[in-house]
Parts: sequence; structure tokens; C-alpha cells
Amino acid sequence: MDGPRCDLHCHSTESDGTLTPRELVKHAREVGLRSLALTDHDTIAGIEEAKAAGEEYGVRVLSGVEISVEYASKTVHMLGYCFDSGAERLRAGLDKLVAGRNERNTKIVARLNELGLRVTLEEIEAEAGGKVVGRPHIARVLLKHGYVSTWEEAFEKYLARGAAAYFERLRFAPVDAVALIRDAGGVAVLAHPKYVALHEGETLEDILRTLVDAGLDGIECFYTDHTPEETAEYLELAKRYGLIVTGGSDFHGSVKPEIALGSGTGGLFVPDSCAEALLNRANRR
Ligand code: AMP
Ligand code: ZN
Ligand code: FE
Ligand code: FE
Repeated sequence: MDGPRCDLHCHSTESDGTLTPRELVKHAREVGLRSLALTDHDTIAGIEEAKAAGEEYGVRVLSGVEISVEYASKTVHMLGYCFDSGAERLRAGLDKLVAGRNERNTKIVARLNELGLRVTLEEIEAEAGGKVVGRPHIARVLLKHGYVSTWEEAFEKYLARGAAAYFERLRFAPVDAVALIRDAGGVAVLAHPKYVALHEGETLEDILRTLVDAGLDGIECFYTDHTPEETAEYLELAKRYGLIVTGGSDFHGSVKPEIALGSGTGGLFVPDSCAEALLNRANRR
């Protein structure tokens, strides 16, 4: 593959990534990306810095966010793009999600303490650098203390759904997440369809149909972990439902060193036309 490329899915220090928004944009320039969308979990706090850095480094920066939504008691990740970052309703909605995270984190820490693991909310918040706190930060603190020896062990034993210190947090329904994004002039995209958990007898297409009815605009066909067969399946679904095709690496920096910005684990190529398509859709809103 050649031609201009982009990466429409990555995380900064505003959520659980290790590069600042500015460093990310600089890195995008270094790896030769024409466009970049910053998609932190539940926050748009890094967008302004990323856009300013985009001007500086000659990278086109799209606003973005990744929201976990509740779908039939499972979690689906929704990406929002090209919204107006001044949008008050979107900000207020995301603030609610962050408050829900804080409530959940307090419960997790209390349970970990009951289980004899001496961790504090303060050190977890310090690990997150005062930004949006996620389970990955808790996993890092458990690793630092030697309570677990791998990240996977932290999730399996304590943090994954159903594990010893798992608690639900506030999540929006897909329609509400789509409405927040579109109300802000943005475009809603289903993230990494590979990781949409299916109930017995359910297909991805069933879920997609529901999301399209809710106002979904696009589907992330190109993704680090998608096989060529999966990518082909998602491209076919995009065609069938008239959805915008997007793609990204889900780069997180040094906490997931195997994933590179722009190229994933090596085989990822996201044509810059994906970024164009998002911008065009948003401009018509
Ligand atoms: P949170 O948004 O705080 O609920 O944390 C979600 C993040 O935790 C995901 O984006 C993953 O990076 C990580 N995660 C969730 N479940 C697992 C799991 N079973 N194993 C490893 N990492 C996980
Ligand atoms: Zn993340
Ligand atoms: Fe995700
Ligand atoms: Fe992500």
C-alpha cells in the first residue's frame, strides 16, 4: 500500500496513553501520517493541544473521543469524530462518565483493600497524572507493588468483568452516545468490531443494524488486530449499510509497545481518504 495515510484511533496522557497530545502529533509527523485523530477515553481535554501541535508540525488533526457504551449488558466502544470541541452538551456528558469512573474506582480500591492489597486511590490517580483514571492505571499500580506479575493477571484476578474487584461504571446506551456526538456536529463510528462481544445466536450484523438505526455513521474496518478476512467482512458490512470506513492503531505509547502509531503491529494501513470521509460527513451536518 502507498499514498497518504492516517491514524484515527490513539490515546494520550489525557487518558491511558503515555505520550502527551503534542508528542503524539510530533510522532505522527515522524511516522509520515497526513492526518491524526486523538481518541482518548471519555475526554476531549487533549484536543486543543493536539490541534495546535498539528499546525506546528503540519499534521491535520481531527477531534475525536472513544466512549464505552452499554449494549445488551455488554460493552461496545464508540468513536466520535470531527465534533465541535466547544460543544457544551458533549462536555457535560463526558463529565458524567468521568464522575462515574471516580465512583467505580473508589469501590475497586475498597475491595482491593479488603482483599489485603494495600493500594490507595491517591497513587492510582498519581499514576493517571490527574487525568481520566481507567482500569489500566490500576493494573499498573498492582504491577508496581508486585501484587501481580503481568497486566493480564491484574485483569484476570481483579479487574476484568466478573473478577474479584470488578464494579460496573456508568455507561450510556448507544443511542445516547450517538446523540451526544451528533449533537456536537460529530460523526459516530463503531470501534474495533472484532471486539464486539456477541450473545449466543447473535451476529455482528444484528448489532450493527441497531446501531445504524440509532444514527451510527461509520465502522472501524482497519484496526491493528483485524485479520485480512475480518477487514474484508467489515468492509462488506460498511458497503451494505452505507457506512463510512475508518481505521486506526489504538496506539497507547510505551504501555502497549507492540502497537506502533500508524502501522499497528506492522500490517496496518489506513488511507487518508478515511479522514477525508469523516470531515466531509461532519461538514454536511
Ligand atoms: P475502563 O475504561 O477503566 O473500564 O478500562 C478499560 C480498559 O481496560 C480497556 O480499554 C483495556 O485497555 C483494558 N481491559 C479491559 N478488560 C481487559 C482484559 N480482560 N484484559 C486486559 N485489559 C483489559
Ligand atoms: Zn485505552
Ligand atoms: Fe476500544
Ligand atoms: Fe482505544
